[in-house]
Amino acid sequence: MNPLSTSIKEEKETASLLESTQVVIKEALGKLGYSEEVFELLKEPLRMLTVRIPIKMDDNTTKIFTGYRAQHNDAVGPTKGGIRFHPEVDEEEVKALSMWMSLKCGIVNLPYGGGKGGIICDPRQMSIGELERLSRGYVRAISQIVGPTKDIPAPDVYTNSQIMAWMMDEYSRIREHDSPGFITGKPLVLGGSHGREKATAQGVTICIEEAAKRKGIELKGARIIVQGFGNAGSFLAKFMHDAGAKVIGISDAYGAIYNPDGLDINYLLDKRDSFGTVTTLFENKITNQELLEQDCDILVPAAISNQITKENAHLIKAQIVVEAANGPTTLEATKILTERNVLLVPDVLASSGGVTVSYFEWVQNNQGYYWEDEEVQRKLKDLLVNSFNQVYEMSETRKVNMRLAAYMVGVRKMAEASIFRGWV
Ligand code: GLU
Repeated sequence: MNPLSTSIKEEKETASLLESTQVVIKEALGKLGYSEEVFELLKEPLRMLTVRIPIKMDDNTTKIFTGYRAQHNDAVGPTKGGIRFHPEVDEEEVKALSMWMSLKCGIVNLPYGGGKGGIICDPRQMSIGELERLSRGYVRAISQIVGPTKDIPAPDVYTNSQIMAWMMDEYSRIREHDSPGFITGKPLVLGGSHGREKATAQGVTICIEEAAKRKGIELKGARIIVQGFGNAGSFLAKFMHDAGAKVIGISDAYGAIYNPDGLDINYLLDKRDSFGTVTTLFENKITNQELLEQDCDILVPAAISNQITKENAHLIKAQIVVEAANGPTTLEATKILTERNVLLVPDVLASSGGVTVSYFEWVQNNQGYYWEDEEVQRKLKDLLVNSFNQVYEMSETRKVNMRLAAYMVGVRKMAEASIFRGWV
């Protein structure tokens, strides 16, 4: 037996995101015939920086925030990945997220390795001034290890183009020259790219279209449930609605609304606040967990991790599950869904649209030449359709589930590049 072939069966549901990522990376490397040393190299980020950032708050007290930046592997090129502001950010999660970024970049064949950053904070409770000082403080704290040819940050949970603008400005001041290529997801006037804001949802849409073709489901009239109404979920609900699909359920952190006749998406988009909250306006709510179990054709978890578990995987009615969030389905649940013949499009493929358009933004910054939205859309579609096909083919030819197939496609370039560099 291959020493790397750890079975998904052995995985406990209580495994952390990092542990479950390691289980699948190990299995993927084993299936591809790589040695144990390659797994040892890739099982954790090469670099993890923890910083403490003192910030003067509006009430004149000083608060110390903890932040992280993980760089998984830079054999293929500079590392790339977002920065999240969230009270529950922790070191292990940031590490796992940086590894997923490596896989996303590998799947889409971008010239990057994976990175990720996070700050433990609750931006919903902070003023604009406090957020600006925290964003700038974080860049000062990590400035040694980041840069346009080293590690390129971007938006993630609860960070946006304004935060990217402050960060780019701070970095440019430190380096004493304008550095738009230091960070992506910037406002258009500061060198952002057309299509970056909606890119994650666009990528999910492309995956839904491809998955629907494989399952023989007509998108027009298909019943879709989207869990989460943040950047990915809200744009996605709109795209699905515009494509003639029937969005019958959505949710936010406070609950879910469901109507088998379809929801008024434009109304909901109009009423949502900047953190994606909208269900607080409704009396007749169900829980997020109940939403996942409602009858539908396509289910898109676009909120947080560990939503589909071995407890509810057999209750999912959808024929297609497309993971717009990071880590919404546990490995046990992946197994159950696969056995039930549900087509599961894994996070590392489905949510790769964001980093793909980030790559386009960085290329445009490096060239100093900017593209029209149509060009961005065309290039994004080409890359993601191709990535979907590669993962689907890998899953068919090697008889593995779509998650393992995606990891196999995602990890091989990084493994190959590390070997060529003589690291293993
Ligand atoms: N935060 C996004 C992700 O998880 C985008 C990263 C980027 O654009 O670099 O994929």
